[in-house]
Amino acid sequence: MPSISHISAGFSLGFAHRKALYQLLAATPENCSVLQLDPDQLFSSGVEALALDFDGVLAAHGAPTPLPETIEWMKLCEAVFGGSRIFILSNKPTEERRRWFTEHFPAMRFISGVRKKPYPDGLLKTAELAGVTLSRVLMVDDRLLTGCLAALVAGARPCYIRNPYVSFGDHMFSEAFFGSIRWVERVLIKCLG
Ligand SMILES: [Mg+2]
Repeated sequence: MPSISHISAGFSLGFAHRKALYQLLAATPENCSVLQLDPDQLFSSGVEALALDFDGVLAAHGAPTPLPETIEWMKLCEAVFGGSRIFILSNKPTEERRRWFTEHFPAMRFISGVRKKPYPDGLLKTAELAGVTLSRVLMVDDRLLTGCLAALVAGARPCYIRNPYVSFGDHMFSEAFFGSIRWVERVLIKCLG
């Protein structure tokens, strides 16, 4: 669960970037998942590196590995961007997930040892390791006040996954909790924006 200081950072940074968050929310289709993101189109629009959240984006909350369809999507991304420019920027970089990526996508790297999103540190490290400017980094995240906000704070590009993967059968309490958080985020941003 997030700490109080982490939540408070989300709200204070979020307030400062409320207009951009509002515009992002308004521009995002309700069905947006990673499968709606065309790697070729992203590259054509100037994106050169990807920072991918895990929970909700590549699989349901707490899942040890990505879903089959997001694995296929990552293969398409790898062909376009190169695995060395794709990063997993999750607030929960578990050993099991790391091992899975080492085996299946060895060129992709986990960003760790940095302050958690919404602090911009992980995206600064992403740009540095990828050798690109921050404006060329796309942060793909299902949370407005963590990943998307971190992108805005860092000067990277946010992509809001409005339709995250959930599995109430596996983690009912966590899914209900994070589902509520996502809803509260949207309500707050609509009110403040
Ligand atoms: Mg997430």
